Amino acid sequence: LEDQLRQSQKMEAVGQLTGGIAHDFNNLLTGIVGSLDLLQSRMAQGRFDRLDRYINSATASANRAAALTHRLLAFARRQPLDPKPVEANRLIVSMEELLRRTLSESIRLKIAAVDDLPLTLCDPNQLESAILNLAINARDAMPSGGVLTIETSISNLDRVYAASQKDVFPARYVTISVSDTGTGMPADVLAQAFDPFFTTKPLGEGTGLGLSMVYGFAKQSEGHVRIYSEVGRGTTVKIYLPCHSGELESEASVPALSEIHRA
Ligand code: ADP
Repeated sequence: LEDQLRQSQKMEAVGQLTGGIAHDFNNLLTGIVGSLDLLQSRMAQGRFDRLDRYINSATASANRAAALTHRLLAFARRQPLDPKPVEANRLIVSMEELLRRTLSESIRLKIAAVDDLPLTLCDPNQLESAILNLAINARDAMPSGGVLTIETSISNLDRVYAASQKDVFPARYVTISVSDTGTGMPADVLAQAFDPFFTTKPLGEGTGLGLSMVYGFAKQSEGHVRIYSEVGRGTTVKIYLPCHSGELESEASVPALSEIHRA
């Protein structure tokens, strides 16, 4: 029975992973098709200026899709993902064109990058997928338009040290927050939002995997994710990722347990 249980848990994990990747892949395909449609309609109108923007955007999405299938193959070969030091501000700015393509015209995109943001340690492709998922949710929550704000900042938050949940010390995190001025989430939706396959969207539109992917990514990166939402006002999702400062990496900077308990 125990073996059966373990097997079914494994299958569930694989299902979640492949479902998540299929979901991301679909988002990217939507972006590519959107860019190509725009390209075609501009050409049909005889407007040949700035066509490279649409080509570049389609190429960028196709490259991201290739990186995704690479991840799936890496998983099949059981190669662990290796996180890298990432400049979150630069990554977000590089997504700007993709994000504009994804959002409708009635949504204004604001990017507010804090100066001197430390490097964070995570998988950059997964961070991109997470931000894209959050942007799509924000778009869907603002059917008649609004403002999508992506903001970076530095936060102090507890960090769990070692296996015991009691071993906690304050640490600095790179924070990426994605806010919308949309519908907001009622308490019962908020309570289930991270559950895989939970969706309030019509059949065929939502997979219920966006936020569970974001959650899995944050946890895998030893970070956190929190949702702040108010019905009728909007939603903010904050991803906290550990700083990759040389100091945090070194053993010496991890406080001794006695210090942690005193804090
Ligand atoms: P999906 O978007 O496919 O439904 P998610 O896991 O991303 O899956 O989201 C689950 C549910 O959480 C959504 O169906 C929606 O009800 C709610 N939700 C997520 N993000 C937002 C948001 N920014 N504003 C309002 N509701 C949201």
